[in-house]
Amino acid sequence: MDVSAESQKFGVNSEGLMEVEHVKSPTMVKTPETKKANGEKCFCNRDFEEKDVRKFVKLLKGSEIIWEGQAAKGGKRITCNIDDKSFSTLTKGLNAAINKYKINTCAQKMHFLAQVCEETGTFALSEESKSIFASSESFYKGRGVLQLTGVRKKDKKSYDAPGPYQDYADYKGDKNIVKNPGIVATNINYCIDSGAWIWSINKKMPSNKKSQAVIKWGKESAGKSLNELALYVDKYLELISVLLNGRNAKTNMPNGWEKRKSNYNLLKTGFFRYDYFHGSNNKPVDAKKIVTFHIYHDGKIEKHIPKEIKKDYENKYSYIYHDTAGKEHDICTVNFEKVQNWIVGSKKDGGKGWAKRTVGGRIRYYQMGTGKAELVKVVLPINYSKDGVVLKIGDNTTREYLNPKAFASMLGAVANCGYEDFKFNGSTSSDGTGAPSLTHVNGVSFDFRYLRKDKTGNNLHIDTEPNALDITRQEKFIDELIRFGYSQFYSYNIIINKKKFILKNSTHLAEHNHHLHVRREGYKPNFKEIKY
Ligand SMILES: [Zn+2]
Ligand SMILES: [Zn+2]
Repeated sequence: MDVSAESQKFGVNSEGLMEVEHVKSPTMVKTPETKKANGEKCFCNRDFEEKDVRKFVKLLKGSEIIWEGQAAKGGKRITCNIDDKSFSTLTKGLNAAINKYKINTCAQKMHFLAQVCEETGTFALSEESKSIFASSESFYKGRGVLQLTGVRKKDKKSYDAPGPYQDYADYKGDKNIVKNPGIVATNINYCIDSGAWIWSINKKMPSNKKSQAVIKWGKESAGKSLNELALYVDKYLELISVLLNGRNAKTNMPNGWEKRKSNYNLLKTGFFRYDYFHGSNNKPVDAKKIVTFHIYHDGKIEKHIPKEIKKDYENKYSYIYHDTAGKEHDICTVNFEKVQNWIVGSKKDGGKGWAKRTVGGRIRYYQMGTGKAELVKVVLPINYSKDGVVLKIGDNTTREYLNPKAFASMLGAVANCGYEDFKFNGSTSSDGTGAPSLTHVNGVSFDFRYLRKDKTGNNLHIDTEPNALDITRQEKFIDELIRFGYSQFYSYNIIINKKKFILKNSTHLAEHNHHLHVRREGYKPNFKEIKY
C-alpha cells in the first residue's frame, strides 16, 4: 500500500485512461487445463487449496503471515482491520472471486495475484494507509485488494465522490457500500470481490480504436478488460499495471513497476511454473492470423500456425524476435513459395533426375528430390532498431531466398549480436538450387561477409588483410549461429604473426577468403511447431 500511495489514480495521461469504460460482462475465455503425464495439474480452471495460497504468499513475502499491518514511523504500527485473518478464509474468498469473475487460466491468475500482492503488500493491509496523498485521508480512499477508490469532487483535493464505489454498489445491488465504504476494507469478502470486479468488469481499455491508448498499444487491446489482457501472458504486464495505478511521471513506467514485475515473474516461474505446463507460447488463440516464427533469444524457435489465416496472408510468414526481457520485436513479414526440392549439387551431370544450371559461365548440376521445399524471399536490407535490440542486415546478394527456419536462425543470431555491419552474401536463388554454389540447395546454407574491425562494412579478404578481421565479433556470431542450430562453417586459414589460425568450428575451403559459409550439415535448431 505504501507504494500505491504514489499513484495518480484518475489523472489523464497518454494512455487515455479517462476513456475507460464500464461494461458489465465478464470475459468468457477458457483454456483447457494442462495436465502432465505424472498427474501434475496447472491452475487453469482449478481452485487453490489453502496450502497453495500459503505457498505463493511465502514465495513473495518470505513468511506465511497475512493481514499483519505495516510498520510506520516512530515505532508505530498501522493495523489491518479485516474481520478474518485466516488463510482458510482468504483461500475461500479468492476462489469465490476467481470463479465469479472468470479469472480462469494460469495466465489470468498470475497477473491478478501479482497486482493484488503489490497493492496489499502481499495481504498485509486491506486499505490505503495515511500518506502525503490526498486520497489516503478521503472518505472514499483506496480499499480492497485492488484499491477501489473514489473520485475527486470538482475543485476539491480529496476523493470524496464515490465514483467507482457507486459503480461497484450498483453492480452488487448493495447501497450500503456507498454509505459505509469501510466495509470494503473490513469484510474479507468485499475486500477480495471488489478487486476481482475491478479486474474483470470495471477497468477496460477504451474500445474506440482511435483513442490514444489503443493507438499506442495496438488494436487488439481495444475494449479489453484487465482479465482479457492477461490472456496474452507477458505482453501487457506494463499496460495492466498502468491501467490499475497510472504511470509515474519521473520514471515514465507504471507506479510500483519493479514490484509488480517481480511479483509477476516470481509467480510465473516459482508458483504457476507457467512454461512447464504451458510452454513459452505467449500468443493467445488467433491473436495474429498469420503464421509466425517466434525467435527467442535463448535459441528457441517456434512456428505458430493459427487455425484461421487472414485473407492475402496465406503465403506470408511473420518473424518476431523475443529479447532477454521477454519483449517482442516485430522484425518482418515475408513471402514464401514452394519450389522443387533438391538433394545435392555437383559439377558432374548425374544423368536422369538431374537439372543443369549455368551461372556466370559456370555449369552446375542439381539432383532433384521428391516434393517441394519452402523458400522465403528475404527483403534486404533489414534495418530494425528498437528498445535496445538492433537487427541490421545489409544487402550483398541476388540469392535472397532462404529456408523459413534457417531465416529464423539467421535473424536470431544477428539480433543476439546486435552488430550494425552485417552483410548477407545470400543463400539460394528462386529455383532453390543456389547455383553456382553446390551446397546452398533449399536455402539452408548461407553466406555472410566477414566482419571488419573498422566496421566499414566493406569487402574484406582475410588472406590479404588479416589484421582487419574482427575475430572476437566473428566468433561471437558463430556462437550465436550455434545457439540457433548450426554447428559447422567454411572459412579460410588466416596467418597472423606467422601463425596459422582458423575461426572456431570452421574448415578451410577455397574461395572463402571473403565470406563465412554457414553449413547446412548438422543444422538442428531447437524448433517447435504449434498449431492453434
Ligand atoms: Zn494452466
Ligand atoms: Zn556458401
